Amino acid sequence: MTESAPAEFHSATSDTLRLFFALWPDGATRAALNRTGKWLHQHWGGRRMRADTLHLTLAFLGSTPAAHLDALVACADTVRSHAFELILDQAGYWRHNRIGWLGANEAPPQHLDLVGALNTALKAAGFPVDARPHVPHVTLLRKSAGGEVPVCSPVRWPVGDFVLLKSVTESEGAHYEMIRRWPLD
Ligand code: ATP
Ligand code: MG
Repeated sequence: MTESAPAEFHSATSDTLRLFFALWPDGATRAALNRTGKWLHQHWGGRRMRADTLHLTLAFLGSTPAAHLDALVACADTVRSHAFELILDQAGYWRHNRIGWLGANEAPPQHLDLVGALNTALKAAGFPVDARPHVPHVTLLRKSAGGEVPVCSPVRWPVGDFVLLKSVTESEGAHYEMIRRWPLD
């Protein structure tokens, strides 16, 4: 396809990818998050996220031209950040989108450093960054009623890397494909 192709051709799904950077849990953490999802569902109802989709978004890019993928990878290559343990110990609910989630009472500085470094690199390269403050959370429930916030047993997540994911929309909700993984120091 040439630069001068009509706009409607550029909107074809093969030309753009729905992308985001995230933490992708190891098997044990994924199982623990899924158990917490089951437990929170008993309190708040809604639709549980499938176990294989559980993740924590670090930076959401949204629809991105496939041609920008190399530049995006180059951004992440510049990020130097440290491994850490993320303790997810706080259930939360957002009324505006009816999402029930698991978050951190206190995000470790290494987590905030990672998000900061990623956003700085993305912004410098001209990619869109979220102006809102980052709230580390794993979405567990959709279309949930919410309710009184129950005290939950913490999930301990050893974070040793971050990933770039492609979101693929399906009738039963999105699934995610890993494009690349970057180790933390
Ligand atoms: P679906 O939208 O199909 O129900 P989804 O929300 O899981 O599924 P995406 O919309 O592709 O899939 O989002 C991928 C991740 O990025 C999710 O964690 C989502 O919460 C987050 N996200 C989506 N839109 C934004 C946004 N505008 N700002 C920040 N994070 C976002
Ligand atoms: Mg969405």
